[in-house]
Amino acid sequence: MQSTDTLDVLEKLVSLDTTSHKSNLDLVAYIETYLKEFGIDSRRVPSACGEKASLFATVGPNIAGGVVLSGHTDVVPSAADEWLSDPFTLDVREGRAYGRGTTDMKGFLAVCLAAVPKMCAANLTKPIHLAFSYDEEPGCIAAPEMIADMHSVLPDVDMVIVGEPTGMKIANMHKGVLLLTVTVTGLEAHSSRPDIGVSAIEAAAGMIADLYKIEDPSLDVQTRPTLNVGQVNGGTANNIIAGTCTFSIGLRYLKEGELETHRTQILDILNATDARLKRINPKLGVRWDTHFIPSLDPEKDTSAEVRLKNLVGANQAITVPFATEAGQFQQVGWSTVVMGPGHIDQAHTVDEFIDIEQLDKAMDAIELVIAQQSQ
Ligand SMILES: [Zn+2]
Repeated sequence: MQSTDTLDVLEKLVSLDTTSHKSNLDLVAYIETYLKEFGIDSRRVPSACGEKASLFATVGPNIAGGVVLSGHTDVVPSAADEWLSDPFTLDVREGRAYGRGTTDMKGFLAVCLAAVPKMCAANLTKPIHLAFSYDEEPGCIAAPEMIADMHSVLPDVDMVIVGEPTGMKIANMHKGVLLLTVTVTGLEAHSSRPDIGVSAIEAAAGMIADLYKIEDPSLDVQTRPTLNVGQVNGGTANNIIAGTCTFSIGLRYLKEGELETHRTQILDILNATDARLKRINPKLGVRWDTHFIPSLDPEKDTSAEVRLKNLVGANQAITVPFATEAGQFQQVGWSTVVMGPGHIDQAHTVDEFIDIEQLDKAMDAIELVIAQQSQ
């Protein structure tokens, strides 16, 4: 068992509450100090508000041919009273390490950091870069800025491994996500006077019903685009016609062409309601913000996928059902796969845990990467 150091680091990472809406700077400072002990400088990419930062660092010579080990530092919220143990205190029992983020994805970060002494001892001839983002959970928001900075200051990179939980299988494909946050402006009135009020909730409900008709449930759920309205907020009281309503749309798609078709259908629905409301009163209407997480697409022969398969002795790659920052790395031309410890079923859950055996497997894989970068 080689996981003792990993568990020490993981205990520290879990204890620092980096729920996405909070600052992650304590965790960033911990990693900076940790790396500094091995003489490794790191570079922060701060958020606009200054309360969060991504961080990347290079171990070994800063030349072309590097491998990037990438993960996010933020975690999803925890309903602490529903947990058997405190979500921010690592609890090791029966071969599992419990705590918020153990699977998604501080377990991987801990393995990367625990491997740093091995990287330093190995006389790397090519670099290993560590890249840790924030605000992944709200929609892969911060990674693009970090990746752009890395791309501008680092020599060419051969392979990016995004360590999201795949049970240490290599994933070469996942859907992309189009996210829209929609705000409907209606006109408040007493609920007895629908003749003078315009209900934002009614308008939203009509659009939501139409949006769900875009999906074709007869097709395979793994490959067809899927649509979800995951949040609706609107109105103020039972006896008031709602003046505003907001809702969020998430469209997951595999192919670029499907994205365009469905984006057009979604916008047609929003624009039609916007026009109808504006005909009633020009101050009313529908507006929206768009956010986009690119898909991870399988690459050709020279890719990270083939190299990593050879390295770890795998012969298959899987498709994962969740979005990651991997497509954002691909967008700057870096060959990217997803492979990390733990299983996605345990992510975002009450009593989140990771099997310690998974952490050991991740360390084995990183040791192979270290060996490859030392040749
Ligand atoms: Zn994650």
